[in-house]
Amino acid sequence: MIIRKGGGKRINIEFLGGCKEVGRSAVLVDDVLLDYGMKPSNPPQFPINGIRPKSIIVSHAHIDHSGTVANLMDVNPEIYMTSPTRDLAYFLGKDTIKISRSQGIMPFEDRDLRRFMEKTTAMPYNKEFYTSEYAVKLFDAGHIPGSSCIYLNGEKSVFYTGDINTRDTRLLKKADHNYPKTDVLIIESTYFGKNHPDRSELEKKFVESVSETLDCGGNVIIPCFAVGRTQEIVMILHAYGLTPYVDGMGVDVLDIFMRYPSFLRDEKKLEEAFNNVIFVNSRRRAEVVSEPSIVVTTAGMLNGGPALYYLGKKYDDPKSRVLLTGYQVEDTNGSKAINYRYVEARGRILNLKAKVEQYDFSAHTDDSGLKKIVSEFVKRGTEHVFTIHGEKTKEFAKWISDNCGCTAYAPVNGDEIIF
Ligand SMILES: [Zn+2]
Repeated sequence: MIIRKGGGKRINIEFLGGCKEVGRSAVLVDDVLLDYGMKPSNPPQFPINGIRPKSIIVSHAHIDHSGTVANLMDVNPEIYMTSPTRDLAYFLGKDTIKISRSQGIMPFEDRDLRRFMEKTTAMPYNKEFYTSEYAVKLFDAGHIPGSSCIYLNGEKSVFYTGDINTRDTRLLKKADHNYPKTDVLIIESTYFGKNHPDRSELEKKFVESVSETLDCGGNVIIPCFAVGRTQEIVMILHAYGLTPYVDGMGVDVLDIFMRYPSFLRDEKKLEEAFNNVIFVNSRRRAEVVSEPSIVVTTAGMLNGGPALYYLGKKYDDPKSRVLLTGYQVEDTNGSKAINYRYVEARGRILNLKAKVEQYDFSAHTDDSGLKKIVSEFVKRGTEHVFTIHGEKTKEFAKWISDNCGCTAYAPVNGDEIIF
C-alpha cells in the first residue's frame, strides 16, 4: 500500500512485526526503528530482519517489544529509552540467553547485551532529543514502569503508542494524555472490542476468592508476569491486609523498580507492600504449601518458573485455587488450564482438581480507551491511523474509518507505506 500526499520529503514506514498479532513488535520509520521484540513461543519468533537502522527507540521492556534489540548491535545504532526500560530489558535479555541455550536458538549473546547497555542513552519523559533527522519525545504510557509512547517530529510526524494504559493502577499513574499534534498515529489494539471491568469491584472479587480459599484450608497460587503484575498484585493484597509469599523473577524486577522511584505512582506504598511479604527461595518452597497460604509467583501464563512447582503440589487439591491475573495466549498452560482444565509440567499432564479463575488486571487500555485516544488525535489533525498489536486490528481500523473521518489501515508484517 502506498499513500502519496502533498509535496516535500517522503516518510517511509515499514511494519516488521506485531501486525495482526501480539508479539515481536517492530516498526521502522525512515532510519528510526521503534521496538524490536520477540514472540516468546517455542520456538521463538522474530521480526523481519536484515534491516540497518541508524537509531533504535524502545517503548518498554516487555520482550515482545525489546527482546531482539541486542541482535542488532553489529549495525552500531544509537539507542534510546528510559532508564527503567534499559535496566529491565538487560535483565530480561539475560533470561532470554538462558532459555535460548536450552532451545538451541541464540538471537544474541552476552557480549551483545553488554554492548546494548553501553550504546543506550537513557532519556526522561517529555525531554526533546534529536536522532536521524527527527526531534523525539517520550511520553509516559502508564503500562509498566518506564513505558513510553514515542513521538517523532520531522517534516512529517508520527506518534507510536507502544502499549498504553489510560487508567490508574496501584503501581502506576495512567498515560500522559497531553498528546501532541501528529500526521500519523500508530496505535496498539490489544483490547479492541472488550471493556475492562470496574477495577475496585474486580479487586474485591479477587480478594474474596483468596480469603474463601484460605478459610477452606486451601492454597492460593497466583501466577503473575514478573514485570508489573507481580508488584500490582502484592499491592492489592497488602491493601486488604493479606500477606503472600513471593517467589520468582518478580523479586529481581522489584529491585530495578526501586532504583527509579520517580517512574512509580507511590514508591512508599510499593515498599510498604513488599515489607509485608515473605520471599521464598527454592529450598523453602515445600514449607509454603504445607499449610493454607497465598503464593504470588512467575510465570504469568504457567509456562515455566516456580509456578509449576506449586501447581505440581496442589493440582489435585479441590480446596486450592489458581488465580490467573492476565491475558493467556493460546497454547500456553494458562489457556489450557482455563479451557481444558489441565497443564503440562516437565513432561507430565496434570489434570486440575484445583479451581481455576481468571481476573482481568490488564495494563492495556480497553475498547473505550482506544477509541478515545484515536478521537483525541483526530481532533488535533491526525489524518492516518495504523492499528497494530492485537487480534482485531482490522476491525479496529474499520471502526476508525467509519467513525473518525480519517484513513485507517491494519497493516500486515512486511507492509511498507510511503507518504
Ligand atoms: Zn507490554
